[in-house]
Amino acid sequence: MIVSKFGGSSVSSASQIKKVGQILKSNDKRVAVVVSAPGKRCDSDEKITDLLYKCNALVQSGKSCKELFKTIQERFISIANELNIKDSDIEIKLDEVRRLIDAGKGSNYAASRGEYLSGYLISKYLNWEFLDPAEYLVINSDNTVNEESYSNLRDAFKGGKKYVIPGFYGKDQTGEIKTFTRGGSDITGSIISRALGAELYENWTDVSGVYAANPRLITDAKVIPYLSYKEVRELSEVGASVFHEEAIAPVVDAQIPINIRNTNAPEDEGTIISPSSKGCGISGVSAKDGLSRISLRKLMLFKKSGMRHKLLTMLHIFGIRPCYSLFGIDSIIWYFDSSMASDSVCESMCKRIKEEYDLDSITVDRGYAILGLVGPEMDKNLDVIDALDALRKNDINIVSINYGASDSSVLIGIEEKDSKQAVKAVYDAVLR
Ligand code: ASP
Repeated sequence: MIVSKFGGSSVSSASQIKKVGQILKSNDKRVAVVVSAPGKRCDSDEKITDLLYKCNALVQSGKSCKELFKTIQERFISIANELNIKDSDIEIKLDEVRRLIDAGKGSNYAASRGEYLSGYLISKYLNWEFLDPAEYLVINSDNTVNEESYSNLRDAFKGGKKYVIPGFYGKDQTGEIKTFTRGGSDITGSIISRALGAELYENWTDVSGVYAANPRLITDAKVIPYLSYKEVRELSEVGASVFHEEAIAPVVDAQIPINIRNTNAPEDEGTIISPSSKGCGISGVSAKDGLSRISLRKLMLFKKSGMRHKLLTMLHIFGIRPCYSLFGIDSIIWYFDSSMASDSVCESMCKRIKEEYDLDSITVDRGYAILGLVGPEMDKNLDVIDALDALRKNDINIVSINYGASDSSVLIGIEEKDSKQAVKAVYDAVLR
């Protein structure tokens, strides 16, 4: 059995939904489909989910969303008409959604309705059962999935039937609608795959898989045929937009492979993400920009036990949660997302930490990026040397290297101004 998930661009219009129908009908094993809300049809278009958040914001500011909601209404009605769906309930459902948003049902409810209406329409179009996750999928307050969801969902599926499930939302423990974070339909797809024990989770989008480098930088970047779960996690950590990072966990437990595929080019095989990698060498390169660097030093820094923990607690007090760390004998480097702290917050933090822990020095510098080389057995991979050599030949200043801490990645600190050039240099040297 295969679970297929189609993202916003795949269900953005009637003509896209027709492609979805053809894909689903071309393989009888596809028995459950998770859908997003209609996304953008072109660059200037607005996603239905964004419009719904705006409707809710209007209501929160004391205004009605009636006018803005018309755009949403028209979009769904025109999709229904073009798909020749004769169902008077669609108008009734749209009216009710608008009324409840206006009545102040809140942002989770409002945002979830894009997927709800999209799922309902697509179930009518395919003539498949509609399964509302608000009845079965319980999301804990920390956004994790409540274990009972799996048995709820398993019990809801009746063999021999096919189902459409809206992505992105479920219910909280009190029964109110709750959404995942943005892009969360990927998570729903994983949950359904695990609940049904699927042999494959297909994730259909508008690109033919995961690229070895950002195709906006390398226009002819190739698609990576195989990746491991670990590599996907590492690639998304260094800025590659692959797959919702929380969507890996449910399928990892059940060891279900994920196939990223292109709705607009269904003949392409896409990328298979599975427990272990089948690739060799470096699979991909990506850079995460917008980082700042804390460098601190104290003689015998680590002689006092619990020092690192105390320093991290102090950073948290100032709103800083580092994303990458490196340790020297008497020094620490922490990288963090620059938007976490203004210059004045960084100044007060440095002053307080320096005094409290009697540091020799502590500084915060802006304008860094982390370049991630991702692949299997990166701790043994000699291509890393060629990649570093390519950086040197391109005059890219390397400020740190984290090698060996993970067997799936090497993380290289560089200046943000060099990040695009660094990705190109590494791609040309080791990925062409
Ligand atoms: N529609 C939601 C969003 O735009 C969820 C999703 O598409 O996965 O974030």
